[in-house]
Amino acid sequence: MNIDYTPEELAFQKKIRKWFKENLPDDLKRKNLNGVTLTKEEIVAWQKTLSEAGYLVVGWPQEWGGPGWTATQRYIFDAERATAGAPVGISMGIIMLGPVLMAFGTQEQKEKYLPKIRNCEDWWCQGYSEPGSGSDLASLKCQAVLDGDDYVINGTKIWTTYAHFANRCFCLVRTNNDCKPQAGISFILIDDMSAPGIEIQPITSIDGEHHLNQVFFDNVRVPKKNLVGAEGQGWTVAKYLLTHERTTIAGVADSKLNLTNLKEIARKKQMNGKPLNEDPSIRRRLAEEEIKLIALEYTNFRTLADTAAGRAPGPESSLLKIKGTETQQSLSELAVEMAGYFAFPWKTGAPEGPEEFQHATERYNFLRACTIYGGSTEVQKNVVAKMLLGLG
Ligand SMILES: Cc1cc2nc3c(=O)[nH]c(=O)nc-3n(C[C@H](O)[C@H](O)[C@H](O)COP(=O)(O)OP(=O)(O)OC[C@H]3O[C@@H](n4cnc5c(N)ncnc54)[C@H](O)[C@@H]3O)c2cc1C
Repeated sequence: MNIDYTPEELAFQKKIRKWFKENLPDDLKRKNLNGVTLTKEEIVAWQKTLSEAGYLVVGWPQEWGGPGWTATQRYIFDAERATAGAPVGISMGIIMLGPVLMAFGTQEQKEKYLPKIRNCEDWWCQGYSEPGSGSDLASLKCQAVLDGDDYVINGTKIWTTYAHFANRCFCLVRTNNDCKPQAGISFILIDDMSAPGIEIQPITSIDGEHHLNQVFFDNVRVPKKNLVGAEGQGWTVAKYLLTHERTTIAGVADSKLNLTNLKEIARKKQMNGKPLNEDPSIRRRLAEEEIKLIALEYTNFRTLADTAAGRAPGPESSLLKIKGTETQQSLSELAVEMAGYFAFPWKTGAPEGPEEFQHATERYNFLRACTIYGGSTEVQKNVVAKMLLGLG
């Protein structure tokens, strides 16, 4: 593994750094750094700016409007994005569905859906989990029964992130009850989230915000041609998508930015009459986080080396997901420790508190979820034990 950039890669890095400097709105950067929940309009506007510059679907091949970058260029782009303080964006269409359609979709599906993801016209949500079917996803019950040229869908999906912003949904449905559970699952595209029979109920999460929903389907008709892959092939499609999801959730570049930000705050902010970074316990915690992040970055380089060599992300993505999300959580804990008194009046408006700390508790609370979504830590540990350590 060679982690030195070539002169061409260094020139690329310079170009990307300049682009973010010139195009990232100050207000968006400040909100992102301070952990403010962005509105739909803010997210869409930023994604359109990226799209117009050709920087939204950076992992896609040129054939479908991607820049055709190498894995190292993509790594550099993401590192520069995070260092600039730009938000990560909504990945459902770009990182999850796009690659799935390229691998399993029909030509008609690719032509219909991929350009609208690339231009940020469509917002997709992910309908996998159900009450009682999260880690044990293969037990899902949401039923799709063929009636003429349509499937008729009945059932419910839960924890559907931003279903209330989405106009479309990719969904796992049960098309056969008389076989091994995995073999009875199909992957289907729901074209219109405002179609008759679809009801979206909000779930307020622990940070007090509305990101999540429960979605109900009551005799919702979806054309048969919206199946991705063959009937019963949904499990293979779903597994392909999940490896892509896990590598991105680790969020190493954003954690590095977060740490830099905390170090800067510790230098500037006074607590008990002296800068926070003169407090030995804060200094020790910052050093611990930095050491963990360096180790994590090398694990990230290992998966990058695999991708650069043309190998798909393997079970190492589970390792990255466990450690990456634990680091996100411990950094958010450190922010709350550093905020001290100012973390206390969370959501009650504390206008006198430093801006950097006003959302520390909110972020701390929400990040309890990152060791759950995209496959819980315990389940990832099972994968590591079986696939990497050869146990069980
Ligand atoms: C913020 C957030 C956003 C989400 N967004 C989406 C979304 O957009 N679309 C979507 O489809 N889903 C989404 N999810 C759902 C998420 O994928 C599930 O919550 C997750 O897979 C866990 O499933 P569960 O909640 O049913 O918990 P369970 O599977 O019931 O797990 C409960 C506990 O048991 C443990 N456990 C379960 N099985 C095992 C095992 N075999 N070995 C050891 N321990 C085990 C788990 O680790 C956990 O601690 C989201 C979840 C959250 C929190």
